[in-house]
Amino acid sequence: MLVGAHTRVVHPKVIPACPSGFSHRVLAMTEVSKRILVTGGTGLVGRAIEKVVADGEGRPDEEWIFVSSRDADLTSSSETKALFERHKPTHVIHLAAMVGGLFKNLRSNLDFWRTNIHINDNVLHSAYESGVQKVVSCLSTCIFPDKTTYPIDETMIHNGPPHSSNFGYSYAKRMIDVQNRGYSEQHGQRFTAVIPTNVFGPHDNFNIEDGHVLPGLIHKVYLAKQSSSALTVWGTGKPRRQFIYSLDLARLFLWVLREYDEVEPIILSVGEEDEVSIQEAAEAIAEAMEFGGELVFDTTKSDGQFKKTASNAKLRRYLPEFQFTPFRKAVKETCAWFNANYANARK
Ligand code: NAP
Ligand code: GDP
Repeated sequence: MLVGAHTRVVHPKVIPACPSGFSHRVLAMTEVSKRILVTGGTGLVGRAIEKVVADGEGRPDEEWIFVSSRDADLTSSSETKALFERHKPTHVIHLAAMVGGLFKNLRSNLDFWRTNIHINDNVLHSAYESGVQKVVSCLSTCIFPDKTTYPIDETMIHNGPPHSSNFGYSYAKRMIDVQNRGYSEQHGQRFTAVIPTNVFGPHDNFNIEDGHVLPGLIHKVYLAKQSSSALTVWGTGKPRRQFIYSLDLARLFLWVLREYDEVEPIILSVGEEDEVSIQEAAEAIAEAMEFGGELVFDTTKSDGQFKKTASNAKLRRYLPEFQFTPFRKAVKETCAWFNANYANARK
């Protein structure tokens, strides 16, 4: 039994996967008035939302349904429609996407564009047709214009071309914002989006070729320790990133779903002062993994976008007290999770 802790303690049931072979997981509270469908429920962010809901942030009137591509291939309009007919959600957190780090983007810009355009149109339109009250989709700070002033804010999404390394992903994500505006103006829908910075945490994709920098480096350190070799960091180590812990992001997602009423997106980020270089991030991982070997920088590899420093001023106006997990603590927890789950981690 999982326990939610708000005005009263509730005892949500975990309903086992249905017999037809679907993989969805359901956290059901009593007195349900909101049925929340989470697409991409098996990913880094989906698993984090599932954990915070199960650990006490769920509410008595909520039923949470976490689905993956095994429940429906969301690039298919008929499968997406059937998913919405099956679960009849009142609310949707839309996370499902083709996702990857810099090097996967560089190889597959066309696939990122096509896959994500299909998924997003199918999900948003099925949500509209089935009468969903609110959808929260997920953009990313890497979709902002490459040539820009800093810090980036929510008004700047469409102000110029994105970095060339991930143009397919970026334009597809930007179109979510266009569709949200369209559903609002034409149909009065409350479809909105959040804009997280680089996310990391348990259940990330630790594949070295395809994944993002932190899970990639954690996996590389794990292997370097085994072979007593150096850690190779790709690029110069100088680019800068704001990293958000998946469990912090999950708590913010719950707030957006319940409280945030704008159609315009909101950046979910740590402060500008918490931005770190890739070298500093690699050093934090080396420390957390107790790796005493050398760090070498392979400057034949791309640095990608130098920085995408985002302002969290809008978030701070709404939630001035929100506490982010300190970066080094979150890195330690993620490394501990990877060490403990090496056999089954995505890699
Ligand atoms: P992830 O770990 O790669 O998980 C992707 C999820 O999408 C999985 O549950 C996957 O299901 C599902 N999915 C992929 N293709 C699908 C399809 N055709 N049909 C149905 N489901 C499909 O991704 P994440 O890092 O959690 O990202 C979640 C969201 O946050 C995405 O929208 C991403 O763009 C955004 N975001 C991520 C980051 C980051 O640093 N990771 C930063 C900013 C924004 P299976 O498990 O069945 O494959
Ligand atoms: P981005 O933040 O969207 O650019 O994507 P990533 O999370 O893949 O981060 C890319 C940045 O990390 C670039 O500056 C890379 O040169 C650097 N980097 C260093 N080592 C690695 C690694 O092992 N994997 C990845 N994906 N990036 C790395």
